[in-house]
Amino acid sequence: MRAERDRAARKPPRKAKDKGQELREEISKAAALHVFTRLGVTDPADIDLDAIAAELNAEIRFEDLEGATARVIQIGDRARIIISTRVVDVGAIRFSIAHEIGHILCKHYVGHTGPTDAVERLCSPLHSGGTTTEREADVFAAELLMPRPLVTSWCAVAPLTFDPVRAISSAFGTSVLASAMRFVELTPERCAVVYTKQGRVQWAKKSPSFTGWIPKRSVAPGSAAFDYFERGSIGESSRIVPGTTWLSSKAERVDAPIYEHATAVPGLGAVFSLLWMPES
Ligand SMILES: [Zn+2]
Repeated sequence: MRAERDRAARKPPRKAKDKGQELREEISKAAALHVFTRLGVTDPADIDLDAIAAELNAEIRFEDLEGATARVIQIGDRARIIISTRVVDVGAIRFSIAHEIGHILCKHYVGHTGPTDAVERLCSPLHSGGTTTEREADVFAAELLMPRPLVTSWCAVAPLTFDPVRAISSAFGTSVLASAMRFVELTPERCAVVYTKQGRVQWAKKSPSFTGWIPKRSVAPGSAAFDYFERGSIGESSRIVPGTTWLSSKAERVDAPIYEHATAVPGLGAVFSLLWMPES
């Protein structure tokens, strides 16, 4: 009995920590929705990042940055947002600016500083290896650029292809990857985004109704991702593959067909696939 208590005491408070992180991400979403309400946004075109930055006394610049996509420097109530000139996709630029606005609004200061001390943060938005604070800024950016009240209806469709994701990307001025991640977050459909690099699954983001386990392993023959790493081409259309191509053999309904539509990430040697598992 005592040994059990001791083991329990040594066990890290994982659940409590997860709940704390969940709460901080909810606060990030609430901050973004507050901006949405305050600006009276009724159309994606109303989300004016320059105007939001100006109101926060933040200047936006484009410079050559080493080892990061974006940087934010805060001195007292002033800030400077710097975006790497290597980022050329408009959607990625907007996401990076929104991410840095998130750091400013959510007061992600590094330690305690005086009113004239400069605080600097280097960022790589949407990079899966980021810290919890980076994740919170990403959550803020997704909510600011694709506000739940506006984007939810765009996610209520079956993603046989990237078309619904590309429609969001085009309307909200976001990258296809960020739009796909937002889509799977809000859709009732069973789908997932899987990011693969050098022939291996790096990470997967699943919709709430997608319960299958997608292991981090080499991509299987037959998948569009495999074709890219093997032959350098993906093909334009989506394809239907057996569930075993992507799911663990222990998953439920592992033989059920999965629609896969994949696209390459230019310059990174990576592919992300949108998977959709129909109801029947
Ligand atoms: Zn950041």
